[in-house]
Amino acid sequence: MGTDKPTVPLVDNFIDAIIAEHNQSGRFGGRVHTRFPPEPNGYLHIGHAKSICLNFGIAQKYGGKCNLRFDDTNPLAEDIEFIEAIKDDIRWLGFSWHELRHASDYFDQLYDYAVGLIRKDKAYVCSMTEDEVREYRGDLTTPGRPSKFRNRSVQENLDLFERMRQGEFPDGAHTLRAKIDMSSGNMNMRDPLIYRIRHARHPVTGDKWCIYPLYDFTHCLSDEIEGITHSICTLEFEDHRPLYDWVLDELKTPVHPQQIEFAKFKLNYLALGKRQLKELVTDQHVSGWDDPRMPTLRGLRRRGYTPASIRNVAFASGVSKSESIQDISLLEESLRADLNENAQRRMAVLNPLKVIITSYPEDQVEQLQVSNHPGKPELGKRAMPFGREILIEREDFSENPPKDYLRLKPGGEVRLRYSYIVKCEKVIKDNSGQIVELHCTHDPNTLGKKPEGRKVNGIIHWVSARHAQHAEVRLYDRLYTVANPLGDKEKHFTEFLNPASLKTLKSCPIEPGLAEAKVGESFQFERLGYFCLDSVDSKPGALIFNRSVTLAGDRA
Ligand code: ATP
Ligand code: MG
Repeated sequence: MGTDKPTVPLVDNFIDAIIAEHNQSGRFGGRVHTRFPPEPNGYLHIGHAKSICLNFGIAQKYGGKCNLRFDDTNPLAEDIEFIEAIKDDIRWLGFSWHELRHASDYFDQLYDYAVGLIRKDKAYVCSMTEDEVREYRGDLTTPGRPSKFRNRSVQENLDLFERMRQGEFPDGAHTLRAKIDMSSGNMNMRDPLIYRIRHARHPVTGDKWCIYPLYDFTHCLSDEIEGITHSICTLEFEDHRPLYDWVLDELKTPVHPQQIEFAKFKLNYLALGKRQLKELVTDQHVSGWDDPRMPTLRGLRRRGYTPASIRNVAFASGVSKSESIQDISLLEESLRADLNENAQRRMAVLNPLKVIITSYPEDQVEQLQVSNHPGKPELGKRAMPFGREILIEREDFSENPPKDYLRLKPGGEVRLRYSYIVKCEKVIKDNSGQIVELHCTHDPNTLGKKPEGRKVNGIIHWVSARHAQHAEVRLYDRLYTVANPLGDKEKHFTEFLNPASLKTLKSCPIEPGLAEAKVGESFQFERLGYFCLDSVDSKPGALIFNRSVTLAGDRA
């Protein structure tokens, strides 16, 4: 689990149709070159995984290339810490980029391009305040008015822009704006800002610059500089495409990449925006960006999600032009399918009840040879000690069971998984009436054999009391109590946090071999779900397991 290389399924979507058309017309000479362009202002989440799989997947499918490009044009929000984390997450997902770039690598070229627009009288320095700019822009029903500085001469603009770069002016004193159309029905075309002054240290370029290009100017040109052919982004950029094309057309760049928009990947019971995730962390609703309840790749990874399970969801969920929210069970099912196939089986008890097998010799211990995976003999067997005292799940015994109860009941028989059939002879209680122990007898002829003359249907799991190790187990449930925590206009999304999203069980008995579990390994604890060691808090001798997902069907 984890180290496998992705295989890209050959399912076609509308993007394939666009690429096929380009290949036919020869627009890019048959090249396919994509990029994944995160802004390093937070950690990647499952929505980003969709974009990663799409961009890297398309490159792989067409024998093309995919770059990783940090869209780092806002020094105030960005940090080196995020850059490293994003690289690590992409590698973990199983992808390798062709080239690693930063938009900031192009600051010199972008400056020259901006000068090029000024020379063509297609950009000007505007000295209105932010409020004035907003007021002059108009709105959807009111056309904009031209800036008071729209008619500055090319010479004056060149001079002012150069002096902006030299640091002569404070933040906000001037901006550079594209000269397009103040009456356009598309607000993005009403003389958009393309450069602003920000006296701020940049994580990559340091103090070299005090003016920074804005997204719409930077993105198309970065794509062009890298020779990107298909610039895939999410739907909110559809209205920006005319600007993307305008910049490239005006500058007559040798390559003119095609921007293609698709609908964001959304799952219910999650709130994916970086802003929401940041609030959960800052206000300590979760333990950090890698809290196992977070939909970040760090959180999912710590929870026990495998790269394959995430890729499979990303690939299987399709690529669409219309927004929809998909069901979280897609993600859970994908993990179950992967782990059912690949996780070794072990036994652990979450809520123990002691059972003494009175017919079993006091000092005898049998090392039962138990298969690690029922469908995969190649995964071998392990020894599981069995003795006179065992621990079973409290819920696997009922004193007054309903009809058809298949687990243990007074006078009833049940099979201990991989071991004997036992019969409950006596229920021991304390003064308060609480059951503290069961006394059973075993049928010595039932180890690996069916009992004679009767049918025993129930099977329960167990751990030898004398040999058990102990671990803390963390059970997770959905982070929110409602499907769409962002969908309520009256209430803030944190009001829908599920108070029972984490349940901690101390000192659960686990079979002794689990003491050797390693971070990154997943196990099926039989009849309970899939679990993995917590990569942050677990220590040798003080193990902590996370439940990654329940077995099919049951949630809590
Ligand atoms: P968020 O909206 O979660 O804050 P973002 O879009 O601001 O994310 P970026 O770092 O700009 O985050 O995103 C990098 C790439 O990932 C962009 O191309 C963006 O369109 C894409 N992306 C972000 N969220 C999703 C999503 N939910 N589904 C698919 N692609 C996404
Ligand atoms: Mg963004």
